[in-house]
Amino acid sequence: MSGEDMTQVYSADWVLPMSSSPIADGAIAVCGNRIVDVGPRQSVLARQRGGSTTRLDGSIIMPGLVNGHAHLTLTRFYEERSFDDLLDLMRAAGEYCRSVGRDQLDAGCRSGQESCIRNGVTSVVDWRHSGLLPCDYDAPLRKIIAFEVIGPRPASASSRARWLSRRLREFERNRPPAARAAVGLHSPYMVSWTLWGEALRVAGRKRLPVMTHLSETHSELSWVRTGRGALVEHCRRLSSIARPRRSYHTPVELLFARRQIPEGAIVVHGTHLTPSDRRLLARKRAYICQCPSSNLRYGRRLPLHILSDASDRIMLGCDSLSARHDLLAEARILLNRCANKGNEHQVAKAILNACTIAAASALGLAGQIGSLHRGALADWVEVAIPGRWRAHELESAVIRVGETRRVMFNGECYGGGP
Ligand SMILES: [Zn+2]
Repeated sequence: MSGEDMTQVYSADWVLPMSSSPIADGAIAVCGNRIVDVGPRQSVLARQRGGSTTRLDGSIIMPGLVNGHAHLTLTRFYEERSFDDLLDLMRAAGEYCRSVGRDQLDAGCRSGQESCIRNGVTSVVDWRHSGLLPCDYDAPLRKIIAFEVIGPRPASASSRARWLSRRLREFERNRPPAARAAVGLHSPYMVSWTLWGEALRVAGRKRLPVMTHLSETHSELSWVRTGRGALVEHCRRLSSIARPRRSYHTPVELLFARRQIPEGAIVVHGTHLTPSDRRLLARKRAYICQCPSSNLRYGRRLPLHILSDASDRIMLGCDSLSARHDLLAEARILLNRCANKGNEHQVAKAILNACTIAAASALGLAGQIGSLHRGALADWVEVAIPGRWRAHELESAVIRVGETRRVMFNGECYGGGP
């Protein structure tokens, strides 16, 4: 039997599968890159005789976290700079990407990847204007690379759409095994409708997840409502066509009026969604990816209500802000704002759901990642939770006091020992 085929059993105070109830004194067994058993420790040990066993004391084992929104190549950029205004950030980030070489983007990407793994993130949606970097090939991280589509000038729509198709073909030829593609439409104000439609067709043909930044800032709201404001001035320099022809109440209404949002799309931020927006998005079975610290910084608010009415269609992202990629810290911000004495555990559960199962299904990876069960990929994280906790308190404990120790990605351990 080769080392790769040996079954390894990991037991801990708790196993939190997310797809089923927490298991006290639980264990999981891993063979190759798959989980082959999950259950109470004694039962797993009885079924998996002959495998190696590792005890993780004071910890729980839970699925690896899924970061729904990041810009890993901008990690270095964010290490050195911070902005209060989204337009300032967009201008500076554009300038940075044009001026630094591939090596520096690669270094940023590497440091972002390390930061993800350190924080228990085993899958990440990484927005890229360009394609693969050398570091992608050896990253111990499941990457969903969102090819970012930008192009406000309708005249350039066909060439931008061809560029997207070409990059996706190159990606398919060269992609590391654990990488997937997605289409990231920057926003309705940075993508002409012609290009938007063409990119959706490309994504539809290849059955790729589609995502867009939407309803993020006050200036985006005044762009659709009044055709005035800082964003309009910004777009005017690029293209007058980026302005809507008539006013709408919200960016979501604008998209629906143009019939330009596909089933299951991922709306990133959604900071200013109205109840009517949420109903429209629910009809399309869309997902909303909240990035708490980024939403507070650029949108000046957290959309707290959406945890209660659509928790199975919420994801969590970090937007690479401050270059930390710490999803549990983002979860903590949300929990602190949403929870009260009566709903703490229910809210914590919804938030961890957003970081695991819901994100997996949004990305078309349900059953593969985001939960611990027989047959799933062996992506999991050991989280130390000091103190004694009962089953219904575990999600809250992970978010409030959890500390990532060992991370297993695709059957290989990183950090915290062998
Ligand atoms: Zn973003």
